[in-house]
Amino acid sequence: MKQEIHKLIRTLGKNNISALYAENRKQAFEKVMSMIPEGSVVGFGDSLTLKQIGVVEALTKGNYTFLNPWKPGTSVEESVQIKKRALTSDVFVTGTNALTLDGKIVNVDGHGNRVAAMLFGPDKVIIVVAINKIVENIEAALKRIKDKAAPANVKRHTDFDPMPPCGKTGVCSDCLSPWRICNKTVTIERQYNNSKYKPVITVVIVGEELGL
Ligand code: SF4
Repeated sequence: MKQEIHKLIRTLGKNNISALYAENRKQAFEKVMSMIPEGSVVGFGDSLTLKQIGVVEALTKGNYTFLNPWKPGTSVEESVQIKKRALTSDVFVTGTNALTLDGKIVNVDGHGNRVAAMLFGPDKVIIVVAINKIVENIEAALKRIKDKAAPANVKRHTDFDPMPPCGKTGVCSDCLSPWRICNKTVTIERQYNNSKYKPVITVVIVGEELGL
């Protein structure tokens, strides 16, 4: 597996996406935090993985302007404003739904704020992905998202009312729910790396199972 991950890191490099490997959540935490200067404005794309490795807590308590739209007590209007601010943050931290062996980052989003900030705006984007999210190709990535990640993600959002059907059945029915989380599908294939535009994304691959 380690060999495959290092091959994947080289593949991502060919796509102008820098990547590094962390053996476990502790190392991942240290690597992510070392990339975020104190005093930064930090945007956040909702991610269980980032919570599990301790980054959300550290950003909440530390010397950062942490833009967390899901902070308890935040109204919908405030949440939308925070999501907009995150589009021009110094650093945007997030997880991802899947990473393919040919170096593509695949995400399905409901509101779109997470994928929007991954694509353009922040000066630096840090994407943390655990080994359980590495799949062979885009087809496998989309299947993983619909069969596993999206239903599990819906289930954890107890504030969805009504809850999309997969939150109860665990199976995608290509719903038309007002809370459908599969509205925007985005694949990041490569980044610019030329004299005018430098790449902004760094992927941190964690060698243990995390997230959904
Ligand atoms: S389309 Fe609807 S039912 Fe299918 S995974 Fe997405 S939210 Fe769930």
